[in-house]
Amino acid sequence: MVRGYTPRVLTLLATAALAGSAVGDALAAFEGMSAEEMHDRMSVQTAFAPDDAAAWWTLGWAAYQLRDFTGAVEAWDEVAALDPSWRGLDFWRDAAAVRVALNPGPVGGPPVVTSPDGPAVLTVAAGGDTMLGNSLKNRVAPGNGEGLLEAVVEPLSSADLAFVNVESAISDDLPSTKCGPQSTSCYAFRTPSRYTAALVGAGVDVVSHANNHAMDLGEVGMLSTAAALDAAGIAHAGRYGDTAVLEVAGRTIAVVAAHSGECCLNVNDVNEVAAAVRAADAVADLVLFSFHGGAEGSRARRVPGRVEVAWGERRGDVRLLARHAVESGADLVIGHGPHVLRGMEVWQGRLIAYSLGNLVGYRQFGTKGGFTGTSAVLEVELASNGAVTGGRVHPLLLDEEAVPQEDPSGRAWKQLTELAGLDFPTTGVTVSEAGRLVLP
Ligand SMILES: [Zn+2]
Repeated sequence: MVRGYTPRVLTLLATAALAGSAVGDALAAFEGMSAEEMHDRMSVQTAFAPDDAAAWWTLGWAAYQLRDFTGAVEAWDEVAALDPSWRGLDFWRDAAAVRVALNPGPVGGPPVVTSPDGPAVLTVAAGGDTMLGNSLKNRVAPGNGEGLLEAVVEPLSSADLAFVNVESAISDDLPSTKCGPQSTSCYAFRTPSRYTAALVGAGVDVVSHANNHAMDLGEVGMLSTAAALDAAGIAHAGRYGDTAVLEVAGRTIAVVAAHSGECCLNVNDVNEVAAAVRAADAVADLVLFSFHGGAEGSRARRVPGRVEVAWGERRGDVRLLARHAVESGADLVIGHGPHVLRGMEVWQGRLIAYSLGNLVGYRQFGTKGGFTGTSAVLEVELASNGAVTGGRVHPLLLDEEAVPQEDPSGRAWKQLTELAGLDFPTTGVTVSEAGRLVLP
């Protein structure tokens, strides 16, 4: 036995630190130890005790942290041979295998044609963070939540493609793995599966569930969300390798999604995101890149042009990320996560919306103070080559239950125009008094 380590010690450490997801438990076991050190220890341990599944599992995580994804797959293949029901094994072995295949190179791709190659051929409507009720707190809307999206049915359902970010795990019964029973500052969202009917009713075609609530019910919750969306006929982009591909108006559209956690393409890893966008671009006519990134709240309305941090987590340099995604083949970039509207710009002819704010957060999202209660559905018109030709902003105000209502005063128009001027003086997209996009 190697001094200072036994699988039992690892198990105890993990249990004490995080009664959460398999990845949380695995990484908790690293406390005070570098990935290199852990890799060395586990390499020795597995050589001496090749039937020690816990050691292989941890060796896999050490390799994963060192970006040796081939090594992670090999270690986790050993776990599979010893104990195929190991918790989280399939989820993370799949993620590692996808990351091997992505094989990131530098940012960029074939040259981008920056101007439209003709008139608009396609409209995309997009909304921001969407949380249709939380059964963990018994905050669920009547029926199937039909009333929650009433104000946005028209703009979403009349577009060729409608997208939102689903900011919760979808499940009827899985327990929360995230928050302690006494916690008051921890947010875990579990939306019952029947509320997918509200998304279908509003005309939503595709969603991102790569965000900081995707894993609120652990790995199994992320799979349950995907299964509920599949059952409802809604395409989704979530965990590693889960790129949505849809046929819309005679074109193939891929949706790639990233955020700041372990489950999914990471907003801090621009090379890997670029590789995923290039891979999507190779099979699709148009690529929509969705990111959940940037700091949160009323003081996070600006795009700072550097890495942002929220709740101790790096949430990306979203300007760098979005522009690199465009340079690598993305035709439309939709950001969300800050819970407020952020500015828009055009980069290489492609529209980047840095944050669409809260679309709905039924009795869970704070909307006091104005900025978090101001929202919009963005409608974008794209030419055949994906360059933006125009669009409009459908302004919304969230009520006290964080349900969107139409806003005839157009507060979103004013905010978006102001923010474009501040953050993107030469590339910014403003909004006219009639709600039309004014391109630079
Ligand atoms: Zn979020």
